[in-house]
Amino acid sequence: MRLALLGSTGSVGRQTLDVLTQLEGDWQVTALAAGRNVALLGEQARRFSPRVVCVAGPQEAEQLARLMPNPPFDVLHGPQGLLACAAHSGAERVVNALVGAVGLSPTLEALRAGIDVALANKESLVIGGELVQQALQRTKARLIPVDSEHSALWQLLAGRPADEVEKLLLTASGGALRAWPLERLERATPADVLQHPNWRMGARITVDSATLVNKAFELVEARWLFGVPLERIEAVLHPQSLVHGMVQLCDGSILAHVGVPDMKVPIRYALTAPLRRPLSSPRVRWEDLTLGFGAIDPKRYPAFGHVLQAARAGGTALAAANAADEVLAARFLHGEIPFTRIAAGIERALERHKPQPASVEAVLEADRFARELAARA
Ligand code: MG
Repeated sequence: MRLALLGSTGSVGRQTLDVLTQLEGDWQVTALAAGRNVALLGEQARRFSPRVVCVAGPQEAEQLARLMPNPPFDVLHGPQGLLACAAHSGAERVVNALVGAVGLSPTLEALRAGIDVALANKESLVIGGELVQQALQRTKARLIPVDSEHSALWQLLAGRPADEVEKLLLTASGGALRAWPLERLERATPADVLQHPNWRMGARITVDSATLVNKAFELVEARWLFGVPLERIEAVLHPQSLVHGMVQLCDGSILAHVGVPDMKVPIRYALTAPLRRPLSSPRVRWEDLTLGFGAIDPKRYPAFGHVLQAARAGGTALAAANAADEVLAARFLHGEIPFTRIAAGIERALERHKPQPASVEAVLEADRFARELAARA
């Protein structure tokens, strides 16, 4: 299989390449795209011999040229470079592990070119759900979820008639501060928040796990991936992160997907699906387990409600919520604002933003507006 990997130096990108080296069979990487981590991208390019490599801008392209004079691949940069990697590198499947709004257009471009997309870029569906859905209606290409919860639901729903499905349930670990007294949340430091109990992930998504913004985004993603209305998709707290997703059927039966929390498992399935390949990761030991579940407390997780409200508002509202969150989470990580200001800042951005019907331009404009507002909040 020929793969293009967008976002190769991030957490999911690096794990995707690890998985590839462990998989048997004929795998070829046709394109690697990354932003500013040119040194690691260079190493990856030496190892996987892509035809095309894409970096953030002309400066990074020069940096790569100094590192690798006369490279055996084309060097592209910027949004146009990403589109070329996605649709014109000869790939049969694109793994989109880009972080941010920049991931939307490559997803659309690949789908329009009839190429399957293994999707780890949240923004494609969070800010561009309607656009991606339109693209899917006009192509044979499929979206394959990479995220653990969506991979779980995708596996549970496979081939099941829509009228049998009553409800989708996604689990949330509750993040690093889930047991903190509410009045202490204001004083949580980046180091406190980055100690995620169950998953190893990038910094922003770990902050988004502590605010549950990530979970609200995941409900939105599930809506577009599976065509189930938001009112029938719920999140439930589950501190052990062993149950990843559940499907409640029309007779009250519930199917659950269970497995150890390791991103390499859903990444591997996104590459090999519909085939399943052996993996010698640790196994669930039922005799040692106590599983717990609980409701989401809106006082502890106010941002969860704000994002879902944006989802109901529709149009560009989620693009504004997402951009505000990205800026606020980064500012929290830099020690500029307290943890609790993330939720307050998202609420403020949504109060000020007037949602427009979704188009790529309108979505990017809402993104800019909320970004500027959140930078000053
Ligand atoms: Mg997830």
